[in-house]
Amino acid sequence: FNSMLVRLSANDTKLRNSLDELDSTNEKLKQAKDNLEEQVSLRTCELQQSMEEARKSDRAKSAFLANMSHELRTPLHGIISFAAFGMEKIGKVSEERLQKYFTQIDASARRLKVLLDDLLDLSKLEAGKMVMSMERSSLTDVIDECLSEQEAAIGKKSLTLNRHYDKALPLVMIDRNRIGQVVMNVLSNALKFSPDGTSIDIAIRRVNATEETTVETDSLQVTIADHGPGVPPDEIDTIFDKFVQSESNDYSSGGTGLGLAISRELIQAHHGRIWCENGESGGALFHFLLPIENEA
Ligand code: ADP
Repeated sequence: FNSMLVRLSANDTKLRNSLDELDSTNEKLKQAKDNLEEQVSLRTCELQQSMEEARKSDRAKSAFLANMSHELRTPLHGIISFAAFGMEKIGKVSEERLQKYFTQIDASARRLKVLLDDLLDLSKLEAGKMVMSMERSSLTDVIDECLSEQEAAIGKKSLTLNRHYDKALPLVMIDRNRIGQVVMNVLSNALKFSPDGTSIDIAIRRVNATEETTVETDSLQVTIADHGPGVPPDEIDTIFDKFVQSESNDYSSGGTGLGLAISRELIQAHHGRIWCENGESGGALFHFLLPIENEA
């Protein structure tokens, strides 16, 4: 009887152990199920987010295409209609009048070329296919070259140029032509918006990556500041988007609305950053940062 009791109690212990194991397996299963549910809902959320992004980029692409066809059609229309005019009026109007039609055709064709060149640059940059020719260069020289190219325009508006360059600036690894293109874009906007007789300030300074600065690597910062109307605060970021021109000014004629979009891509290809702010006493300040050492 005693041995039977011992066996029974041993069985009882085994049974309890098995029950405990079952409980713990159950608990593990429940945890696994909860985990799985959490993962599924996380993935669903991610999927929804990427779908929304894809939709957004699709909408941006459609808007871009619509804009582009509009921008291309305007000069093309100019060429076609003035050419038709000219052909129709040969022998009926003065040479001077005909000359005017040719001038219009020439202007429209040039505008079309600028647009197409800009579009080609932008699509190459966006596809990561722009070939950069990096060399250790003096940023000061690049900027001074741009300034002397604009000398006539500066003189025409009686503008004063103030240069604030740090002493002994290091060379930077850049594609000189492409950075020159950025400087020309920003500078020609500054010239366009500057009232006659005002000044434009150009600064180049070294910004080191320390705890007090927000830069990640030692960089050179360029600032071009004008005394024009500035950029409406709600447009300060969007002016870097394709085809965006401020709603509040009437300078759209002549520009393509692509200059700053190209500039941003070019600066990003150099691992730099470009941004805009308004000066405390008015005017727009365009800044860009270029890392001193660069493996773009
Ligand atoms: P575009 O000059 O061909 O119009 P950009 O991309 O160079 O195109 O500039 C986009 C817009 O940003 C301009 O149309 C203008 O509204 C605004 N902008 C650029 N630079 C300045 C500036 N210095 N002051 C005020 N607005 C500016």
